[in-house]
Amino acid sequence: MKVELLPALTDNYMYLLIDEESKEAAIIDPVEPVKVVEAIRKHGVRLTTVLTTHHHWDHAGGNEKMVRLVPGLTVYGGDDRVDALTKKVKHSNTFKVGSLTVKCLFTPCHTTGHICYLVTKDNSTEPPAVFTGDTLFVAGCGKFFEGTAEQMYRALIDVLGRLPPETRIYCGHEYTVNNLKFARHVEPDNEVIKKKLAWAKCQCSLCIEKSVQEHAGKNDPVETMRSLRKEKDGFRVPKE
Ligand SMILES: [Zn+2]
Repeated sequence: MKVELLPALTDNYMYLLIDEESKEAAIIDPVEPVKVVEAIRKHGVRLTTVLTTHHHWDHAGGNEKMVRLVPGLTVYGGDDRVDALTKKVKHSNTFKVGSLTVKCLFTPCHTTGHICYLVTKDNSTEPPAVFTGDTLFVAGCGKFFEGTAEQMYRALIDVLGRLPPETRIYCGHEYTVNNLKFARHVEPDNEVIKKKLAWAKCQCSLCIEKSVQEHAGKNDPVETMRSLRKEKDGFRVPKE
């Protein structure tokens, strides 16, 4: 499987999930559908599926436009409030996207209908991927808008915490630096937190530099990050 990260709004992430075998694709939380259409054209894939983690506008707010732009999509979600919903799912429901198997993990708390999607490739050694929406972030978790601490504990420890350790996590927002600053406040002597915070700041700071943004022709750190990554992909060190 291939996962392309598509930054959206100020700090949201959409993810294009591609089954390379069948060229079938799913999009997770397509809040900016035009960007999704550009990505599916670029990869030459057939988008069949929308996976909605929860009904909040910055995750599900693009669903109506997405189904207008790409007719025939199946829109999954665990909540009747999800726009353009065609298939309501429950914990442990599974379905296919090409040769990939998607399993729904019910993680209520941030909202009462929040679903995380676990994706595995059958008969393969590829590590699974999980799309965690606003339940799990890097070094943090989502707000308890419609749930309790008990529910979040269960979601993080009993559901997501039991996935194989090699599982790749794709979260719904870029909150890493702020989460780690809070973690440092909670555990001021934890060296792992300090190191991870230094690493995370370094990832972001290059993209905040005015001169770097000018080089990339962008005025937003996430867009700068995307542009730099693309540029470096095609960069060959000149002969000296
Ligand atoms: Zn949310």
